[in-house]
Amino acid sequence: MAKVVYVDEEACTGCGTCEELCPDVFQMDEEIEKAHVIKPEGTDCVEEAIDTCPEEAISWQEE
Ligand code: SF4
Repeated sequence: MAKVVYVDEEACTGCGTCEELCPDVFQMDEEIEKAHVIKPEGTDCVEEAIDTCPEEAISWQEE
């Protein structure tokens, strides 16, 4: 099974850190102030975003 990047929108506070660290994968939705995943398969910087997210809102999910 493939793993995909997941953002828990309930937990996300819209701080923008993941987009700063990893803009190829995360993009802020300015309207709702939450991060969206634009590249579910991820890139190398996803692990750093997971470790840095203050709300622990980012994880890998089984597809
Ligand atoms: S770093 Fe975490 S809390 Fe901040 S925008 Fe990204 S997912 Fe949301």
